Amino acid sequence: MSDNAIYDVAIVGYGPVGATFANLLAKYGLRILVVEQAAAPYDKPRAITIDHEVLRVFQACGLEDTIAKHTVPHPGTHYLGIDRQIIKKFDPMPPPFPLGWTPTATFVQPEFEAALRKKFAAYGNADVLLSTQAVDVAQDKDGVTLKVKNADGAQTFRARYLVACDGANSFVRKALGIAFDDLAFDEWWMVVDALDHHATERPPKCFQYCWPSRPGTFLPGPGALRRWEIKILPGEDPAAFGQPDNVTKVLKAFTDPSKLEIWRSAVYRFHALLAQRWQDGRILLMGDAVHQTPPFLGQGLSAGVRDAVNLAWKLALVLRGDAAPSVIETYAEERKPHVSALVALAKEFGLIIGELDEAKARARDAKLLEELNAGTAQTNRQKFIPDLASGLIATGAPAAGTLFPQPEVDTEQGPKRLDDTLAPEFLIAAASSDALKALTPDSLALWSKLRGQLLVIEETGSLFSGWLNQHGIVAAVVRPDRAVYGGARTADELNALVASLAKQLKN
Ligand SMILES: Cc1cc2nc3c(=O)[nH]c(=O)nc-3n(C[C@H](O)[C@H](O)[C@H](O)COP(=O)(O)OP(=O)(O)OC[C@H]3O[C@@H](n4cnc5c(N)ncnc54)[C@H](O)[C@@H]3O)c2cc1C
Repeated sequence: MSDNAIYDVAIVGYGPVGATFANLLAKYGLRILVVEQAAAPYDKPRAITIDHEVLRVFQACGLEDTIAKHTVPHPGTHYLGIDRQIIKKFDPMPPPFPLGWTPTATFVQPEFEAALRKKFAAYGNADVLLSTQAVDVAQDKDGVTLKVKNADGAQTFRARYLVACDGANSFVRKALGIAFDDLAFDEWWMVVDALDHHATERPPKCFQYCWPSRPGTFLPGPGALRRWEIKILPGEDPAAFGQPDNVTKVLKAFTDPSKLEIWRSAVYRFHALLAQRWQDGRILLMGDAVHQTPPFLGQGLSAGVRDAVNLAWKLALVLRGDAAPSVIETYAEERKPHVSALVALAKEFGLIIGELDEAKARARDAKLLEELNAGTAQTNRQKFIPDLASGLIATGAPAAGTLFPQPEVDTEQGPKRLDDTLAPEFLIAAASSDALKALTPDSLALWSKLRGQLLVIEETGSLFSGWLNQHGIVAAVVRPDRAVYGGARTADELNALVASLAKQLKN
């Protein structure tokens, strides 16, 4: 691209969220600039758990092979109390899997970051500048000016929109003077990734060791990867705690380290933070730049990937003139309460795991055990993930704001996951052609203007028909990010949904 090109979108930060967002935008053919201050991806242990929504987004980025090689289904989690008894459980959700992927998986983050960058490198309409730091942003009514610095000196670029994916210390967030709401969680933990080459089988569970003497977490990753997260107690020095000889010493409380090869370890300060604003005119922020969560629900990166898939299609529609710029405001409107609920929950689980007072821990064990035995404890982790409650959805319509299922469908090339047969555009999906035949000429004209797809789903199983029955609907209007705009019980309702969507997009 020429040096003077005006980009559609400039992305600051090429971490996992920036790389996912870049790939999603590329599907719309946009001109993209990515600037990243580091020469290579971050090499310390971070995310190890992802959920099916994220796997579906990675599918959209073309990462099926990486998913096959570098993820395994999450085995479920047991919380162990002081006397090592099980006090709380999360079980894996049984099949059929609604989104076409195992509901939760453990994965190897560096492999995904490399795969995302490789996919994006194959896209011709972009410039990626590594070892290049964003140092100034300014905006006017037409676009954003980004100043960067690298070994060659300073350069200035123009873009219609700028999206900050620049992590917890976000330069862009600070430059815009955006403050965090602090949800009051502040703990030091050490994270150790080790390789267990001697294991004959994968440990059957993740464990949360809710032990006041030394709280910790264990997760078996794919292949030989094993993860321990260990709380650093008040009075302990985080820097000294993270020294290699201490890593092995501390691990002894949880496992026999002599059989392990320590791959990498790091000391982190876990926070629960939510930025007050996620948009400033033509500048938007996502990922750790606007939310940070303790990792106890495995939702930090997942939340960032949800941000990316939520914003990508909205920006694309606005940039090609199919939606009013105000539609972009629904990004924060939809994402902020969603993340807020998950950060609050992760904090709650963190407080359960990290209790240091023995008397309080015993009371906690008794209460959780009673809930578990009475069957009143929620043991399905996916049930904690909220639906969209407002924003660009037909609030009040059946299924509005839920995630559209991903059935396997029959195609001429054999069975495929539904999304692999679709463009990243709006979709009206029905189980029979009757519902689609009832669309009025007005609805059809609007639909074609939006580049929407119409589909009678011919599935190999009964996931989609079961979902329609569950909501009592005959068809659904589905957004490009596969959130449901609304379900329709009748032809009139379907036409009304199309009309209200068109209105919301042009508001
Ligand atoms: C121990 C631990 C365990 C975790 N476990 C999980 C888990 O199991 N599941 C989960 O979903 N999440 C988990 N997370 C959270 C997850 O790792 C993060 O949410 C995720 O990595 C954030 O991605 P990001 O792209 O937003 O930010 P980052 O990965 O921080 O990327 C930001 C990028 O921006 C670049 N950058 C910064 N400033 C500039 C600048 N001025 N100019 C140019 N580039 C810049 C940085 O170099 C970096 O590459 C965990 C985190 C930790 C620490």
